[in-house]
Amino acid sequence: MTSKNVNRHTIDVKTFRDRRKSDVPTLLNAVEFFLDELLKRCTIAYKLNIKVTLKNGPVKGDDKSLNDGLAWEHESGTGVKWFHIHLNDNVPFLELLSTLAHETVHVVQFATGRLRIEDDDWIWEGKNYGPKPYIGKEVDNQLPWEYDAYSKEPELARKFVKQYYSIW
Ligand SMILES: [Zn+2]
Repeated sequence: MTSKNVNRHTIDVKTFRDRRKSDVPTLLNAVEFFLDELLKRCTIAYKLNIKVTLKNGPVKGDDKSLNDGLAWEHESGTGVKWFHIHLNDNVPFLELLSTLAHETVHVVQFATGRLRIEDDDWIWEGKNYGPKPYIGKEVDNQLPWEYDAYSKEPELARKFVKQYYSIW
């Protein structure tokens, strides 16, 4: 596990065995960059704890769906809130970055309360989508929080790559 205390956030990245170990510093910087971009207009100074775990293959959701990424929040026994992101590491690196951007959007949606799960119901900006909003959706960007993540993902990834690799 490699950790980084960036400004105010705590970000951990855990690789699958040692695969992609050399990518860890880039992934830590990417999460920091995405958070800065997504929170830059916020007046509240959010202090987020995020654990990113790379998995050997697709990530299984509660509904048994297979995904390249998943994000959720979890309060530890000591009352500390952690956001978890699981990513399929078996994809090209730019795809991994793009999915990381997408999942970081979800983390920010949860952190800011735009998206909440209350008694199993998914609530977006005060509107209740019930306990199984993903079931029966042909494409998940029909859900507003997914639409939000899909529309921000390419720009975030592109901006990061442009900035990070322009150092050389
Ligand atoms: Zn999503």
